[in-house]
Amino acid sequence: MGKVLIIGAGGVATVAAHKVCQNRDVFTDVMIASRTERKCKELAKVLNDKYGTDVRTAQVDADSVDQLVELLGAYKPDLVMNLALPYQDLTIMEACLQTGCNYLDTANYEPKDEAHFEYSWQWAYRERFEQAGLCAILGCGFDPGVTSIFTAYAAKHHFDEIQYLDIVDCNAGNHHKAFATNFNPEINIREITQKGLYWEDGKYIETEPMEIHKPLNYPNIGPRESYLLHHEEIESLVINYPTIRRARFWMTFGQQYLTYLDVIQNIGMSRIDEVEYKAPKADGTGDEVVKIVPLQFLKAVLPNPQDLGENYDGETSIGCRIRGLRGGEEHTYYVYNNCSHQAAYEETGMQGVSYTTGVPAMIGAMMFLKGLWNKPGVHNVEEFDPDPFMQQLATQGLPWHEMHDCDLEL
Ligand code: NDP
Repeated sequence: MGKVLIIGAGGVATVAAHKVCQNRDVFTDVMIASRTERKCKELAKVLNDKYGTDVRTAQVDADSVDQLVELLGAYKPDLVMNLALPYQDLTIMEACLQTGCNYLDTANYEPKDEAHFEYSWQWAYRERFEQAGLCAILGCGFDPGVTSIFTAYAAKHHFDEIQYLDIVDCNAGNHHKAFATNFNPEINIREITQKGLYWEDGKYIETEPMEIHKPLNYPNIGPRESYLLHHEEIESLVINYPTIRRARFWMTFGQQYLTYLDVIQNIGMSRIDEVEYKAPKADGTGDEVVKIVPLQFLKAVLPNPQDLGENYDGETSIGCRIRGLRGGEEHTYYVYNNCSHQAAYEETGMQGVSYTTGVPAMIGAMMFLKGLWNKPGVHNVEEFDPDPFMQQLATQGLPWHEMHDCDLEL
């Protein structure tokens, strides 16, 4: 039915590639391309051994529009799944426009030299995608992604008016490392060290990082301290659901994680500007001054998120807690998924955070290839019909559960 190019060969791309190979009736032709082709080839071998799928591979620097145009022009995919890093969103969108390919990603663009993300950079491509008759699907991981689709599903089936939205993201897993991040450490640390931000009464309210927190109960897990963060799906959801009076995003962190994060910040290791460092020359003839970015150096010494799966136990629990009106009366609704790190590892070799991102990315691609989510322009996932996506979510490894008129604790 369709030809996909997956860009990236990290944790999320690995999970998405497994799921693509499990759905060969939809994904008839698959290529994985990334900066380091060796990783693509290793993954292709695993996929071939497990599913008998013949996956092609290629090397590409996705920061280069020219290289991307050459690859896309030669392979001619129906859809490019950008599972590299948010830095590459714009170059990949540009190359899609130049070669007539459709586009999907899981995280909104951020410039390398500024820890700041917002949709405006990608929304600026709307007209060009519309005119080209191409579709770009933005933010199709779990959060953003499933959380936005949960909200669309609630609006379609359970509310006349959504008024209060709280997205709650709990990772109650234990990887038995002193400190590690669950996805790309550079992107992760940039995200959570930012100031908090939430939407209330028509405007954004900024908080200090981790300033607002409270214990919330998560199904099958219990109470966990949850911190208000700025998260990208809030930006599109308050536009697409203008009745929302307040929208917030909460994520759990353990005390040990926060202590390490404090130290990392206080000693300057989360800096994203260049510093000079005296390093031994490769030929052994003394030292030379090189420029390094401390956060990128830190990434190189932290555990690789892809290697956490084997000893990861416990589960994630991510969902939407919603209050609003139906038939003139106030109702509450909680829709969520719990995902076991071990089950994710057994199926794909990756931990639950990569799994909960890679599975929705595959389902979004499936929605596009089946013609269920295909309209020209640049769209956030809540702009599409949530029903076929939710049906797939239930059967592709991320079953979801609902509670009606319960205490949301918020
Ligand atoms: P990883 O660091 O594990 O993988 C990133 C991959 O991208 C690596 O294979 C890397 O190659 C490749 N890459 C990086 N730069 C380039 C480049 N210039 N050209 C080609 N390939 C490149 O990250 P994750 O898999 O953990 O995360 C992937 C994406 O998913 C990120 O954008 C992240 O923000 C997003 N995400 C979204 C979530 C959601 O719920 N929406 C949750 C978690 C993550 P190399 O191996 O050579 O470094």
